[in-house]
Amino acid sequence: MQSTTSSQPGETLIEVRDLKKYYDGGGLFGGDPVKAVDGVNFDINRGETLGLVGESGCGKSTLGRTLIQLEEATDGEVLFDGTDATTLSGSELKQWRRNSQMVFQDPESSLNDRMTIGEIIQEPLDVHEVGSPRERREKVKELLDTVGLRPEHYYRYPHQFSGGQRQRIGIARALALEPEFIVLDEPVSALDVSVQAKILNLLEDLQEEFGLTYLFIAHDLSVVRHICDRVAVMYLGNIMELGPAEALFDDPANPYTHALLSAIPEPDPTAERDRITLRGTPPSPRDPPSGCPFSTRCPVKIRPEEYRDLDDELWLRIEILREVLRERSRAEKSLSDRARELLGMETRFSDITEIHQELFGDVEVPSRIQTHIDEVEQYVQANKDSEARQYLLEEFGSECDVDQPEHHVVGETGRASLCHRHKSEHEEPGVVYEEKVRQTSQLD
Ligand code: ADP
Ligand code: MG
Repeated sequence: MQSTTSSQPGETLIEVRDLKKYYDGGGLFGGDPVKAVDGVNFDINRGETLGLVGESGCGKSTLGRTLIQLEEATDGEVLFDGTDATTLSGSELKQWRRNSQMVFQDPESSLNDRMTIGEIIQEPLDVHEVGSPRERREKVKELLDTVGLRPEHYYRYPHQFSGGQRQRIGIARALALEPEFIVLDEPVSALDVSVQAKILNLLEDLQEEFGLTYLFIAHDLSVVRHICDRVAVMYLGNIMELGPAEALFDDPANPYTHALLSAIPEPDPTAERDRITLRGTPPSPRDPPSGCPFSTRCPVKIRPEEYRDLDDELWLRIEILREVLRERSRAEKSLSDRARELLGMETRFSDITEIHQELFGDVEVPSRIQTHIDEVEQYVQANKDSEARQYLLEEFGSECDVDQPEHHVVGETGRASLCHRHKSEHEEPGVVYEEKVRQTSQLD
């Protein structure tokens, strides 16, 4: 399935529509599926490098693997030159696979140590029966040269090579079938900094030479900035923001992008970088928030009208109380706790008084807030934790907790950002974020 000669760089190569990948809960008690990729939409243009960034566990590798059909999609479409790859099977799928390949993060474990370098690179050619055995061997030697290795490396074994060289072998293997599209899954993360630059240069040269299209996965944002044309920011199985790399880095639209960027270590430690530290960890992909994926950690979450002026610190404590209860609803269902609950025995929820003290002991709590917290405490003490959570939601929640945001197109560069704040009735997330950063830095 080679591209037609009329295809132009810049036109759409891959269209991803509502793509989902869920992993079944498994185990004796089933459980909710892991929503590793939870409905993403984007295009990849021919010849471009699209970056995919986000914290570990947010679904980057799963998305990469699902795009090239190493994993079966749970739902949605991957249109590749107009063909929906998710519907292919058998020989059609095998044929299709030639066109999209993957380079893996860890060159230590991704190469079979019992095969020679020649065999490793040649394997895809053998599987697809490309040319005669002799032609395949010639092709492998050519590929060794292409990635900067020597012909005599053909007979050596992976353990005889350094990390950087092993990654070159992985790249040669990915190139063997002359694909159009390559998923690079953190291709330099495991390498020394000095080697990283060389591999990145090689990848750029190869892209130029063969007109390749890349999905470049990274958690290191600084790498992405230089190598990518556009960047997608992923969080909990969703793409929160997507746009040209430059614009996204210089003027992030989404609160999560802001947070992620402020987490990049500043090379010059004396340079002033105002930052809001990202509180807590992402929720479990088995039980993502029902509203905005980022709602449980968002520093600029929309508040109900009557609480807009509430002290930030107090608001934060209320959010943490909600988060604690939410987390328990998930973790608490350990079998013993559940059994105790069913037997009408006390569970560890009884330590709510302690939590109360922890969270609100050192902040001034106005009585209009205290009433609500007392109410919640009573629910929890009565083992009615879901009522407690519901009460908190009704009192302190907003659309961020309840409704899934839509992608809004922002700025002149056609960036897409998933955030309720882009709606006209709210202040833009970036404006609110900057304001918060200013306030925080004044406190220091
Ligand atoms: P990333 O590459 O961004 O670190 P992954 O795509 O590897 O994230 O994982 C996303 C989520 O899916 C994680 O919660 C991970 O534990 C889960 N996951 C990944 N692969 C599997 C699998 N084969 N079975 C079950 N869960 C998986
Ligand atoms: Mg990964």
